[in-house]
Amino acid sequence: MRMRRSQRVGVVVMASAAMILAACGDDADPATEGSDTGSEAMSETGSEMMSETGSEMMSETGSETAVGGEDVAAIQEAGTIRVGTKYDQPLFGVNSPSGVVGFDAEIARLVAESLGVEVEFSEAVSANREPFLETDQVDMVAATYTINDERDEVVDFAGPYYVAGQDIMVAAGNPEGIEGIDSLNSADITTCTAEGSTSLDNLNEMAPDADVITFDTYSKCADAMGQGRAAAVTTDNVILIGLISEAPDDFELVDNPFTEEPYGLGVPEGSDLRCYVNGVLQEAYDSGAWATAYEETVGTAGAKTPEPPEINNDGC
Ligand code: GLU
Repeated sequence: MRMRRSQRVGVVVMASAAMILAACGDDADPATEGSDTGSEAMSETGSEMMSETGSEMMSETGSETAVGGEDVAAIQEAGTIRVGTKYDQPLFGVNSPSGVVGFDAEIARLVAESLGVEVEFSEAVSANREPFLETDQVDMVAATYTINDERDEVVDFAGPYYVAGQDIMVAAGNPEGIEGIDSLNSADITTCTAEGSTSLDNLNEMAPDADVITFDTYSKCADAMGQGRAAAVTTDNVILIGLISEAPDDFELVDNPFTEEPYGLGVPEGSDLRCYVNGVLQEAYDSGAWATAYEETVGTAGAKTPEPPEINNDGC
């Protein structure tokens, strides 16, 4: 359960009209940005999107789509949603001079816009996502974060908002002839993946004899492969496609996915932000905002826009 910054409710929170662009040259510093499009969205609909608790959103058709409680109200009162995201994953989250770019960052912005708050990004790596939420360092994690039972014990997930599949990246030309997960089950092939990921768990389970090296990020795995210290990198196909898009002459995708990785937006265990975010996602599915976010990020690597996955609203 998150530490509430305030229990006070009953405050009408209006979306900020001011766009505050924080300089974000330093990777270690959280990057805050405004949500001016959030205020535009509100005035375009002409309907009252916030209730007196500041936690209700009405759709363009006037139907109630997202309702929050005291956790949502506390974020609105603070005026900022703190989001943990990846900083080195092309297509999903890259910290650039103009801000964090990628699908996860865009999804986080949709949530911030709906709440009428600014978004403050900080870097999450695979292994620190649950601790970030458990220790109240962030309000939400948007970071290629697979929903699974083990994680669900300690955090909650909104979504899913995308479904990836674990795959393998090899050197261009595939010199080792790696065809799939079974090819990795060998002491002769060094495979790299990230600590604290389902990619590592799946590799250990499905290829127990693999020779494995790990880093905190996949970009370090790509570096290791570039230096000949690994013959393969395994993680979600869309993460690998992002890495390949940066070095198409060096790497290629095996394109033989062997798991399903439904991505969720992590929130603290028990937070009412979960159901609110589900409402934002549904609204984004219905309005086309989700598809636009996909096309402008993942879609730029040539991926066809999929149907968005069905949201799990159990308990909402
Ligand atoms: N989706 C997988 C996970 O959440 C792998 C990608 C990642 O580590 O971010 O563990």
